[in-house]
Amino acid sequence: MKIKFPLIIVGSQWGDEGKGKVVDLLAKQATHVVRYNGGNNAGHTVVVNSEKFPLSLLPSGVLHQKKLLLAQGVVIDPAVLIREIEFFKKRGVRVDLVIDPRVNIVMPYHKALDAATEAWKGKKATGSLHLGIGYCYEDKNNRSGVRFEDLIDPKALKEKLETFIPLKKRQIEGVFGQKTNLDIKEIYRDYVDYGRKLKRYLGDVSAIVQKALKNHQPHFAASNAATLGAKRTNVLFEGAHGTFLDGIFGTYPYTTAVYTIAGGVFPYVGIAPQKIYSMGIVKAYTTRVGNGPFPTELFDNTGEKIRAAGGEFGTVSKRPRRCGWLDLSMLRTAIRLSGFDYLSITKLDVLSGLPKLKVAVYYNVDGKKIREIPAIMNSFARCRPVYKEFKGWTEDISRVRKFSDLPKEAKAYLKFIEKELKVPIKIISVGAEREANVLL
Ligand code: GDP
Repeated sequence: MKIKFPLIIVGSQWGDEGKGKVVDLLAKQATHVVRYNGGNNAGHTVVVNSEKFPLSLLPSGVLHQKKLLLAQGVVIDPAVLIREIEFFKKRGVRVDLVIDPRVNIVMPYHKALDAATEAWKGKKATGSLHLGIGYCYEDKNNRSGVRFEDLIDPKALKEKLETFIPLKKRQIEGVFGQKTNLDIKEIYRDYVDYGRKLKRYLGDVSAIVQKALKNHQPHFAASNAATLGAKRTNVLFEGAHGTFLDGIFGTYPYTTAVYTIAGGVFPYVGIAPQKIYSMGIVKAYTTRVGNGPFPTELFDNTGEKIRAAGGEFGTVSKRPRRCGWLDLSMLRTAIRLSGFDYLSITKLDVLSGLPKLKVAVYYNVDGKKIREIPAIMNSFARCRPVYKEFKGWTEDISRVRKFSDLPKEAKAYLKFIEKELKVPIKIISVGAEREANVLL
């Protein structure tokens, strides 16, 4: 398997594609692993020796003890991050972490506002987990955020809390008519303590990553690198969520508040535009959490089987995920938006034992044939998939490590996907375990 760095890993569907496992696999070759968007609403699970490691903020490179960076595009719930750091430290894993001072902090009033807004929306609720992530981004964009630099500076923190808490209280009580027990003193005490615990991780992620990228460049003369004492670096960027949860290009409004497409990496980290390779993570079928159109959704026994075999229940929310066939129109759109150089197909083993498989090759909408997701979301709801059928396989493939050892039906399924999408498949994941891969 030959994969070029610097590299971005992007989910190409609605999230939960198994990005965590692929990042863990590729992190071996990396020196820096950078998480650049989302908050602790994006959970990953990495499995090593049958032990499950749940991650929601720390980049998946943690298990390889690489330099981990949380760029400004991430929002941090400090209690959650501290818990994750302690989880790994207890297991003897060194956490070499850097947090950008511009990172925004999720505050108790973001969670309170999240819950109050969802309650007020009733049936029209977005299906948020009340973790306050979207509300934290709202304040960030409205220049009312508490940044990491404030969290570690008690005086600045106090000033911000005294300004914002009365305002948020008025909003929650006056606008939504909900009760709130937000207490400035209590919040100040807790957050000063979080700041004290996290202060040691402060660093300018934008500058560190830019420098690391420079050291990677092939034209960066070896003699220069030696003079500067620099070593060659491999930077891996870990995207959270999936392409269609992108706040703008995703299936709006059932999305997150951030860019999830590859281009988001430049402003979210604070680096100049340059060639960064990208890999799209494609689950061998499609899943979606929450509401909104899903053209290839299965409502029958096959959908149930996929959900059970794939363990398709939210890492953070535990909610059952909606399951359906692979959708090439979605994937073509994802490829256009993020320019994938490579694909990784995950959870192929989950399809074992299904007598036949279907792939949606294009859509019919209002009498027209289209091969990508329409820009207008109203039309997306009317898209009807047109399928190609494949024979299934019965063998357990979770121990297969060579492409030639895969059942011929699985090979035909993969070859069709690659031919249609015109992007090479480099990793085929055939089980949750770290080693369960066919590398190409
Ligand atoms: P992520 O957020 O994209 O990393 O995805 P999640 O962690 O939410 O979901 C992926 C789940 O599938 C995790 O529980 C993984 O351990 C598991 N997983 C990843 N790859 C495979 C695979 O190839 N086969 C099976 N059966 N499970 C996998």
